[in-house]
Amino acid sequence: MPLPLRLYNTLGREIVPFVPIEDDEVGLYTCGPTVYQYAHIGNLRTYVFEDLLVRTLRLFGYQVRHVMNVTDVGHLTDDADQGEDKMLKGAREQHKSVWEIAEFFRDAFFSDLKALNISMPDITCRATEHIQDMIDLIRRIEAAGFTYQSGGNLYFDVSKTPDYGKLTGQVREELKAGARITVDPNKRNPHDFVLWFTRSKFEHQSMLWDSPWGRGYPGWHIECSAMSMKYLGEQFDIHCGGIDHIPVHHTNEIAQSEAATGRKPWVKYWLHGEFLVLAKEKMAKSSGNFLTLSSLRERGYDPLDYRYFCLGAHYRSPLQFSYEALDAARSGRLNLVERVLRLKGENPALEPATPQRLEGKASALLVSFNDALANDMNVPRALVAFWELIKDGTVEPQQKWGALLEMDRVLGLDICAVEPEELDPELKARVEELIEQREQARRRKDFAAADEIRDRLRSQGIILEDTPSGPRWKKEKL
Ligand code: AMP
Ligand code: ZN
Repeated sequence: MPLPLRLYNTLGREIVPFVPIEDDEVGLYTCGPTVYQYAHIGNLRTYVFEDLLVRTLRLFGYQVRHVMNVTDVGHLTDDADQGEDKMLKGAREQHKSVWEIAEFFRDAFFSDLKALNISMPDITCRATEHIQDMIDLIRRIEAAGFTYQSGGNLYFDVSKTPDYGKLTGQVREELKAGARITVDPNKRNPHDFVLWFTRSKFEHQSMLWDSPWGRGYPGWHIECSAMSMKYLGEQFDIHCGGIDHIPVHHTNEIAQSEAATGRKPWVKYWLHGEFLVLAKEKMAKSSGNFLTLSSLRERGYDPLDYRYFCLGAHYRSPLQFSYEALDAARSGRLNLVERVLRLKGENPALEPATPQRLEGKASALLVSFNDALANDMNVPRALVAFWELIKDGTVEPQQKWGALLEMDRVLGLDICAVEPEELDPELKARVEELIEQREQARRRKDFAAADEIRDRLRSQGIILEDTPSGPRWKKEKL
């Protein structure tokens, strides 16, 4: 029996007990990136939050099937069908084809996830490989009478959905055609949205497919409905994303999915992560004003410093980014590394006590750690228990190590793998920057450059090892 867990469901706006549709199995879908640019650290905050959720569910004993899409077609710079095509814009700016852009930024995204110790989803699916699934779903929506054609495109008619907008807590009549929804003359209602574009306003659109409505490409929202249902079924447990997705993307996903399935309630729990804010503005990929994980690395930070920074705020609170705050997170993490190294140094061949063998204070602190997570994933409060245990001088080392490793299954700070080199952030940043350059060379298939970087590291006494979870390095023992 999994441990009980309470979560804030955006649908209904309250903290409720989490009860999966089927026993202890959890189907979870998270909206993935649009791969026309590097992910910015705001996007990455959302992926860290989703990783904490997956890890909490697994620690609590649920069997999670995690699906994430990669949007490589159809997402315009405005979520409500207006603006430029994001992929085309990226391709033009980088002088590459849209396919090359998609491949390059998808790989870059996955290497960011690895660096942040974010567990890979069980299934990652590309929109361009699921066009037929989208067409099939649109046909069901059409057969159910929810569509109309106008100006060459196929639209979803929101007036047929009485509870349109339920995720926002407002009904359709209250939702005004506000700033975000620019009125398109082809639409009968400002909230209607495109399921299939045939009349592209982009002359150089090269990603086009045949469909019953003509040669064209899918709207962005249909991607997530089609792919999530393909891998998780017509009804599943959890759907996540950042809060910006509540009023348009997720609202439209619900409307079209429930239209296709004869109004069966689609997703049981909707979880949304609050934004990372930068100098009181939101960080937006399309505005060009954004920080990436590489830009933090170039300044000497370890990606795990950023992960630790994210752990300091509850996922439903906005988090303000500043270098001072990131510095504080880095010192906190290095303090942790130092204490872990001391614990291991003072106890050679330290074996962790298994969770069943934990007792006394180690067990009590693990219980308060779990209690904090059980209460809508209160990670900052869970960290308090984690720190209390690290600092405690009375807990027996095997007990302490066992409970800490159990907690790190959720925190993902990789305390098991800490090495003394961690305490030399400059060396670490320098090596990791070179490793990233080598990864980029490998992605470009420039193996000569990749080997050259490996040799350069070797000559500096750094041994590199390629493991299934990415490259690992250590200092050569003299
Ligand atoms: P996108 O690639 O634009 O679809 O965004 C990927 C994910 O990042 C989505 O779940 C967004 O909701 C989320 N997101 C976008 N901007 C931010 C931000 N500033 N802070 C946190 N999450 C964000
Ligand atoms: Zn989505």
